[in-house]
Amino acid sequence: MNQLSDRINNLSTSATLAMAAKARELRAEGKDIIGLSLGEPDFNTPDFVKEAAIKAVNENYNSYTPVDGYGDLKDAIINKFKRDNNLTYTASQIVVSTGAKQSLFNIASVMLNKGDEVILPCPYWVSYSDIIKLNGGVPVEVKTDINNDFKMSAEQLRAAITPKTKMIWYSSPCNPSGSVYSKEELRAIADVLLDYPHIYIVSDEIYEHINFIGDHVNMAQFDDMYHRTITVNGVSKAFSMTGWRIGYIGAPDWIARACNKMQGQVTSGANCIAQRAVISALEADPSEIKYMIDEFKTRRKLILNLLEDVEGFKTNEPEGAFYVFPDVSAYFGRTIKGTTINNTSDMAMFLLEEAHVATVTGEAFGNPDCIRISYAASQEQIIEAIRRIKEALS
Ligand code: PMP
Ligand code: GLU
Repeated sequence: MNQLSDRINNLSTSATLAMAAKARELRAEGKDIIGLSLGEPDFNTPDFVKEAAIKAVNENYNSYTPVDGYGDLKDAIINKFKRDNNLTYTASQIVVSTGAKQSLFNIASVMLNKGDEVILPCPYWVSYSDIIKLNGGVPVEVKTDINNDFKMSAEQLRAAITPKTKMIWYSSPCNPSGSVYSKEELRAIADVLLDYPHIYIVSDEIYEHINFIGDHVNMAQFDDMYHRTITVNGVSKAFSMTGWRIGYIGAPDWIARACNKMQGQVTSGANCIAQRAVISALEADPSEIKYMIDEFKTRRKLILNLLEDVEGFKTNEPEGAFYVFPDVSAYFGRTIKGTTINNTSDMAMFLLEEAHVATVTGEAFGNPDCIRISYAASQEQIIEAIRRIKEALS
């Protein structure tokens, strides 16, 4: 008999992590799987960051840290926000957490009451909807498609707002579409929100540095949005530090205080060694990580060129992050090598089994027509993966 709570029974498994686990399992069986499912840079963490961690171990950093993060780490975050985003935060507005994923979880748990609606422009990052539901919220999806570069317009936002709307959550650069909202587009969204002062904004900027079109712009830069925006960021992507598990927020201080209180009962704070290492990451000039961004840019060009030759994959040019999000709906209803592909989950499974390439179904991101392909993999792997996909589909 299932004795588990309704809460866990109703929770979906993270599709990105599930696909990565499946790929790992097949590899253990001896299959040569190319993993393009997980959004995880394949670089080493920069040496200067590793050295800071080693130093922290040797200096006997081993105690609980302040729940919301070391003071000097918060100073580094404050300086980073000023340097990169021209945003002014004070220490009481910053909370360091165990990954941006926990930052998001904290926000949902301190902001949402049962039945509160959260607007999610689709496609959205896979965990948003479950984190919101776990905390009693109701995700309200706003559909976009490849023809508008997967971006929500101001009119679409206005049409989705109801008296129950409490928040809007989005990422820019976006996981999974790679779309980047321009300053004008964000301003148009902000103008709608001016009519609804009770709606709060989560601006997830974890891909901030992986932007191929110029300066990063964000919601909190608008004076009339600053006091209602929670800026989420972290080091997983920019510094290739996914396993170190450090994320952070800049927020109105009553929200930051609530996240601190929540975290004090759940984790007691993030790992001490990782926090020390992140100080060095954030204090470094962004030019230190440019080699990774340049490589992602080269890979984006490579994968887009290769995908042009895959019949039935319609792809736009993503402006940031390290994903392409091709529309594969041209295949729905077709039978290839005995397998009928009726939806994007069938496509992702077919590519895994037939081409031995792991991708993620767009359904997990609220888009039923696309699959997400991560190009955080070597150029050789990308070339071989797209060759296999092409062959499997032919
Ligand atoms: N937001 C987005 C858009 C992401 O892609 C991810 C995945 N890393 C996260 C948040 C969570 O990142 P972290 O590793 O810091 O928990
Ligand atoms: N954010 C990454 C992704 O979307 C990592 C996996 C996860 O945290 O879910 O693939």
